[in-house]
Amino acid sequence: MPVHSELYHQISNELKEKNVTLVAVSKTKSVAEILELYNLGQKDFGENYVQELAEKYHQLPKDIHWHFIGHLQSNKVKLIAPFVHLIHSVDSEKLLKEINKEAKKNERIIDCLLQVHIAKEETKFGLDENELEQIIQALNLANNTNEEKSFKNISIKGLMGMASFTDDEKIVRHEFHSMKFLFDKFSSALSFQPSAFSILSMGMSADYKIAIEEGSNMVRIGSLLFGERNYTKS
Ligand SMILES: *Cc1c(COP(=O)(O)O)cnc(C)c1O
Repeated sequence: MPVHSELYHQISNELKEKNVTLVAVSKTKSVAEILELYNLGQKDFGENYVQELAEKYHQLPKDIHWHFIGHLQSNKVKLIAPFVHLIHSVDSEKLLKEINKEAKKNERIIDCLLQVHIAKEETKFGLDENELEQIIQALNLANNTNEEKSFKNISIKGLMGMASFTDDEKIVRHEFHSMKFLFDKFSSALSFQPSAFSILSMGMSADYKIAIEEGSNMVRIGSLLFGERNYTKS
C-alpha cells in the first residue's frame, strides 16, 4: 500500500509549527514503504519488535533515528543498543540496568523514557504513579551512593504513555491530562541529571490531536501515514 504522501506533508507541517516531533510508526511495514516516507523527509521511525527493528536498521539509511516503542525484554537490549535513538518503553529498574550496561559496552549514552500506565483498561505494561516514584527514588539513591552502580550511560528524557482505546474523548483527554500532570510533577525529580524532562511521548493516529492539546511534544503515528496494518501477511 502506498504511503499517504499528501497527508504526510500536512501532518508533518502541522506538527512542526507546534514543535511536536513526529515518530512514524513503521511496525509490520516494509523497507520499501519506510524508504518512501524517508524520501519525503521523515527521519524518525518507531518499531515495536527488536528483531524487526534490527533487520530494518541494517537495510535502511543510517541517518534514521530509530525509536523503540514496544515492550522490551532485558535479554534483547543488546541487539538495539548500538544504534537505538530513544527507548520509549522503560518500565523497570532491571531494564534500566541492562540498558545502562549495554550502552556502556557501546560507549554511548542511551536516551530513555519511562512508560507510564494511565489507561483504565488492561494494558499490561507501564508504571503507575507509585512505581514511577519508586524507580526515580531508586535511581537517585544508586547515583548518590555508589559510583559503580550509577547509571552514567542512560539519560532519562521524560515519559511515554498510551490512552484507552475508546471513542469517548473525555476519557482520552482525562488520561492525557494525568500524564502531563505526572510529567510536570517528576520533571526535575532525578537529582543527578543536569536537565529536567524534555519529552512527553503521547498520542497515536486516533488521538494525537487531543494529546497535543494536553501537552504532548512527541506523537507516534502509524496507520494514518502508512495505512492499516495487515498482521496476516508475513
Ligand atoms: C502501534 C503503536 C503506535 C501507532 O499506532 P497507530 O494507531 O497506527 O497510529 C503508537 N504507539 C505504540 C506504542 C504502538 O505500539
